[in-house]
Amino acid sequence: MLICTLSRPEYVSSRLFFADFVIAPFALEECRQELSPEPGRMRPFSDAVTASASTTSTTAVATTVTSEQRDSPWCSARPLAIGIVAVSMSFALIYFLMIVPLTTTIIPSTSPFPPTSSSSSSSESGLSSKVSQATDVPLINSTIFVPTTDYISTTTEDPLYQYIEDKHHRLQIPLIHIPLLYEVNLKLFLPWKPSVNFGTDNFMVEGHVRVHFTSGGGSRVLLHSDSEQHVGECIVQDEFNREIFVKHVGRGFPQVLDLHLATDMIHGMNYTLDIAFRSHMQQEVAAGLFSVPYTNGNETRYVVATHLQVSEARTVFPCIDVPEVKAQFDTVITHPTGTTAIANMMDNSTVVDGGWTTTTFRRTPPMSTYLFALSVSDFPYLEVFSSRGVRSRVYCDPSKIDSAQLLADVISPVLEFYEDYFGIPYPLEKLGLITIRQTAGLYKEGQFPIAQKHNLQEIIAHEVAHQWFGNLVTMKWWNDLWLNEGFATLISVRAVDFLENTTWRYEDRSAELQCVALRTDQMDGMQPVSGSKNSNFGRYFDARPAINAIVYKKSSIIIRMIERLIEEDIFKQGLRRFLSSFLYKNADHEDLFNVLLYVHDSSAGGHLSGQNFSLSDVMDTWIRQAHFPIVHVNRIEGSIVTLRQEKYEHNVYNPPRPNEQVWKIPIFYDDPVSSKHKVFWLTDKRPKVFDMGGQHVVDPHQLTYMRLRYDMDMYSDITMALLQDYKSVPANSRSRLIDDTMAMAENGQMSYKVAFNITMYMTEETSYRPFQTFSAYLDFFLPRMYIHESWPVYKKYLEMILGGPYDKFSNQGLDMDIDEDSDLYHTREIVVLRACIIGYEPCVQMAKERFAELRRNCSGEHQLLSDNCNKISYYLRSHVYSAAINYGSKEDFDFLFKKWNLEHYLMERDRIFTGLCYTNDRANSDLAWKALVKNRARENVLARAGICSKKLINDSLLLELFYEEKDYLKELSETADQVLHSLLMLVVRNINKKKDIDKFDEMLKPHPLFTRMLAGNRYQAIERMKWRQFTAPYFAGNASEAIEEMGAFQRNV
Ligand SMILES: [Zn+2]
Repeated sequence: MLICTLSRPEYVSSRLFFADFVIAPFALEECRQELSPEPGRMRPFSDAVTASASTTSTTAVATTVTSEQRDSPWCSARPLAIGIVAVSMSFALIYFLMIVPLTTTIIPSTSPFPPTSSSSSSSESGLSSKVSQATDVPLINSTIFVPTTDYISTTTEDPLYQYIEDKHHRLQIPLIHIPLLYEVNLKLFLPWKPSVNFGTDNFMVEGHVRVHFTSGGGSRVLLHSDSEQHVGECIVQDEFNREIFVKHVGRGFPQVLDLHLATDMIHGMNYTLDIAFRSHMQQEVAAGLFSVPYTNGNETRYVVATHLQVSEARTVFPCIDVPEVKAQFDTVITHPTGTTAIANMMDNSTVVDGGWTTTTFRRTPPMSTYLFALSVSDFPYLEVFSSRGVRSRVYCDPSKIDSAQLLADVISPVLEFYEDYFGIPYPLEKLGLITIRQTAGLYKEGQFPIAQKHNLQEIIAHEVAHQWFGNLVTMKWWNDLWLNEGFATLISVRAVDFLENTTWRYEDRSAELQCVALRTDQMDGMQPVSGSKNSNFGRYFDARPAINAIVYKKSSIIIRMIERLIEEDIFKQGLRRFLSSFLYKNADHEDLFNVLLYVHDSSAGGHLSGQNFSLSDVMDTWIRQAHFPIVHVNRIEGSIVTLRQEKYEHNVYNPPRPNEQVWKIPIFYDDPVSSKHKVFWLTDKRPKVFDMGGQHVVDPHQLTYMRLRYDMDMYSDITMALLQDYKSVPANSRSRLIDDTMAMAENGQMSYKVAFNITMYMTEETSYRPFQTFSAYLDFFLPRMYIHESWPVYKKYLEMILGGPYDKFSNQGLDMDIDEDSDLYHTREIVVLRACIIGYEPCVQMAKERFAELRRNCSGEHQLLSDNCNKISYYLRSHVYSAAINYGSKEDFDFLFKKWNLEHYLMERDRIFTGLCYTNDRANSDLAWKALVKNRARENVLARAGICSKKLINDSLLLELFYEEKDYLKELSETADQVLHSLLMLVVRNINKKKDIDKFDEMLKPHPLFTRMLAGNRYQAIERMKWRQFTAPYFAGNASEAIEEMGAFQRNV
């Protein structure tokens, strides 16, 4: 199932800007899609949800982001991967995979159970009638619960249990017993519509699980089970149905259920364990088994979904919740009649009994617990079949389902693309289960920007790729999550190229991913891509924005380097071999490297041939070490240069910190003689002589994960070459030049003048990628410069870079039909966005005129909602709304506010709200934000705050609101702490004066938790003030000099 949304260009930069806001919004209202083939995984939902909806998890997220990172400019996603959506995608955790082969049922030979899709209590598996009853009858009521609060005997001194308190440790549960099958029965008391009411049982879950396992002996059974799960009776039986008395159920550790049996089990014998339990659906957090409201006509209804990555399966039913323990699942869901239950597998039977419906699903193939998935809703669906008959359904809120068609249309081609790529047919009858937010899943031609379409395609392609890479073959432990995510991130771009019959995306997106990853990875304290197998992965997941960049983006670049090193075809062959060798099993990166190397060595050529190191040797330097190298390029003569590596240090230390890190760096180049790709190796710290072969830059296609630093003469020559013919340097390299020089200037390693000189050619630039990189840095500079006395100087520089391109587009007509999927279209979008934001007069004027026209055309009550009267191009809307509200009247605000209240589509609502937050009026501001907060079931405050933080109005309206309305602040802190946290981040973002810091401190005094959570943001505000004081004058001076030099150059031409 899928939940969908819309994206827009402005998200792009907003997320750059608000690095600490990167967490995706959670707008659970709409669509869901069930991709039919069985392997379901859901993903996008995943973290996005967790972050935004919860009151607690975001907090953790935000507070763990390193403070440096918060404010750093990011190369953001291009419109194609617009903000929220991109985030969600990258966050996307893998979800489920259920795999049931289409033609043959997969049953591990060790499984004692028939492959049929028996219902869980089927007598086929020889279960006793007592247990069968237990599953049919709600045997759980509070009176039978055994007290489980006491705890005996296990101590962390026992080496087996030393990690037991560590939720995220691989060795938390000693893997003594091997689960083979879980029979999961869940009864969901979902008041899905107002007329359905279970009283105090509303949102309760009654559950029963029967775990079939092979014992490793001993008298203890440990399972993961969340402490919120109220566990009732536990019954253990051996394979002859003889019950073994459970002496005690220990609950001494919050995540673990610890059963002490009266007698020892026999090593190698199969047992069953029956556990009854009762728990609550999550309502605040989209994690575990959760319910979410949506609007159906005048009613508020509820749907249910799951998101279990990484360790939430234990909140749904007791299990051994680690990825390397795969088992099969028989799922039975009892849900209110009128709703439909979907799960990983195809349903086997549906029995209606009055107000309850029981849906039984076929048995899954072996899979990890985090892939378990289900959803219950009254959503209608669209259905499609692949050419091989794999069924996919897209479930969606009825009012949006007409915008879900693209989603349905994308699935089958993507499946077929992967079947071909991986050489393994999709093994299930239906697509499993994927959930996605509305914001990511809806698209309607002509009404949504094309970027939304590509986002959607990429997300689906990412998730579906996991059906093979992640679900069919799963990492042993989360330390290798990078492999799944990096690969899915990379391959999904290829899939979109396939869908769109293009080839440019792969290279372009790689450049973008690299830019974002470098930006994160240069910060102190970053984790390597791959941690130790026994490490606690929790810390990897806590700081989500950073993790996102490392686990998804850096790893995708590393994987792309591997692909280039061993050549594309060999890489593909290796993957096929890897997947078929580890089908339904777990593997780690060593397993993959071994297979790739085997394939590489068995073929002719490849860039490792003749070297005295292996692929693993090379890759260890990239995945085991955090950070990355910078390669210094110094000219000897002509094309002959020396290349020398060292670790890139973003922060300047005096004296310099010793660093011993060395990488095995492949420098890719095109051999001018053979015109083949070649590799020049830099494997130690000594300078090596290299012939650039007439190229202006090293690694022209930006294939290696590193920064480059040229000597000053070379920078001058490069600048000149760009001014004379910028296309003599490939677009990715133009983007990289801007990125590297800006990054190095940031901490004084180089003058900003070098960077500004490089950008001077951009008045002619037509490619999106360099603009995007440039734009990302604006998110860093603009809030610092805007209120500075030298702003006019800097603005003059910006108008020079952006004004020319804007005028060109404007002269052609901003509504001119450009292929939405073209580089030029994206360029136009970002140029207009930035020109309007910096207040470039022609752009502001255009916006005002168009808004006035909108008011004339759409003023009638019934017209407000109509899209027909709105002639403004989608890509221009939020800029038009913003400028209108910024420079307009109270009537303009009222008009737009009314429109926002009526609007159904989240994407348009977001555009409108972006405009509303540009108000300069305190009363309007209060009105807009309070309305947004009130309506938070429908939209994400965090994302809106992120977008609004971009507005260049030096206001403290929101600070005033909270400062003066202490009761409101208190109320939010008690009822919506996450929302408040988002808003307070925005407040700090707008703090530019010492007196406002004082106000802020005073305001938060009664709320020490927020003071703590926002300490990093507050620190950033102070750093911005310092930057303004000490760096801004030089910064502006450098800009001014660059302008003069440009003038001189133009006079000479
Ligand atoms: Zn993924």
